Amino acid sequence: MKTCPKYTFGVGDRFANGAHAQLAAFIEAKKLGIDITPVWNKSNREHNIIGSEPIQTRQAADKAVTDLEWMGEYLLDADHINLSTVDRFIAPCDFFTLDVADDIGLPANPADVSDFIDRHPELIGTVSIEGIAQPFEITRSDIEKVTNQFLKATQKAAAIYQHILAAKGGIDNFVTEISMDETDSPQTPSEMLIILAAIADQKIPIQTIAPKFTGRFNKGVDYVGDLLQFEKEFNDDLAVIAHAIKTYGLPVTLKLSVHSGSDKFSIYPIIKRAIQRTGAGLHIKTAGTNWLEEIIGLAESGGDGLALAKTIYAKALEKKEALCEPYATVIDINDANLPSDEEVNGWSSKQFTSALRHDQSNPGYNADLRQLLHVGFKIAALLGDTYISALKQNSEIVAKNVTDNLLERHMKRLFL
Ligand SMILES: [Zn+2]
Repeated sequence: MKTCPKYTFGVGDRFANGAHAQLAAFIEAKKLGIDITPVWNKSNREHNIIGSEPIQTRQAADKAVTDLEWMGEYLLDADHINLSTVDRFIAPCDFFTLDVADDIGLPANPADVSDFIDRHPELIGTVSIEGIAQPFEITRSDIEKVTNQFLKATQKAAAIYQHILAAKGGIDNFVTEISMDETDSPQTPSEMLIILAAIADQKIPIQTIAPKFTGRFNKGVDYVGDLLQFEKEFNDDLAVIAHAIKTYGLPVTLKLSVHSGSDKFSIYPIIKRAIQRTGAGLHIKTAGTNWLEEIIGLAESGGDGLALAKTIYAKALEKKEALCEPYATVIDINDANLPSDEEVNGWSSKQFTSALRHDQSNPGYNADLRQLLHVGFKIAALLGDTYISALKQNSEIVAKNVTDNLLERHMKRLFL
């Protein structure tokens, strides 16, 4: 099995133009003693929206690694793929996020459900987990309900995994993640235990699992939810994972994956405490935050760069509904807080960057504008060369924003 390093950080390079600036953050982190492996992740959805191919992400990552002489590991994530979308990711990728959200809630074959329950008497009754004060009380009807909710999804994951395994020519060539985050309701720690037992039964050597946590993980903005409840759930999930590794023989490298994990500054101290206390690993995906730094860099540069940033905002506002549709479960935009394009047209560089940069202490910060631009990368893609050449013309200022955002706001807060 290809082993997943302990701390991995998903970075997104929407336009295959930012890998150098991203890698620079990992290099700086390493100098500070923080050993994090970059995982370039770009989902099928994002490739479709932009009209790009996974091989371009690979080429950009490889080039950055060579140019900057990064000697550490790095991975390329086929993010949120399923059986119908995985094939173009097989060759360039070595990390696969199997998205089974669509199969959650679809009932499995009743014989498979009863077979699973019969095989797992240890999951019924009082289930004590080291590290969780209050044991789970799981009835037969609870486990039936959870199995009906999730068994089919784990069977689907197995089918995708087997497909990748055959195509990659062996398990030494990739890391497997299962994601369940883009669904309507969070999975509780006791559900996670049952899900992990089912995944082990399917013989999937899963190394990262992305549940849907309690609270809102909106794209590009801070966590919205009950911090105490999140802390309990996160700690319980870590305990469940440690238990499942021992009980079901799952890989010892199995760890939690936090999707839409960029910018969730209010839960970073909780995550940091938990991983330091338990020694657990962590995978955190921060893809879309990077493209926002490109816009910030353009706006900061003034002149044509600022004008382009304003154009992108105006067009995003115009196409808001279509841009938001694929991300409905992971954004919450209050239209009343979106400034008009006329207003934004009158903004200085400072006003634009204050609104967009994720600094909640800045009175100009606007989380609604930030979310809209987060999902607005299609607009930049449609601008084609105009956008890419603006990035190139302002590469220094863009790169500084990309690197600082990852290093200062994300890595240091989570790991230092
Ligand atoms: Zn996700």
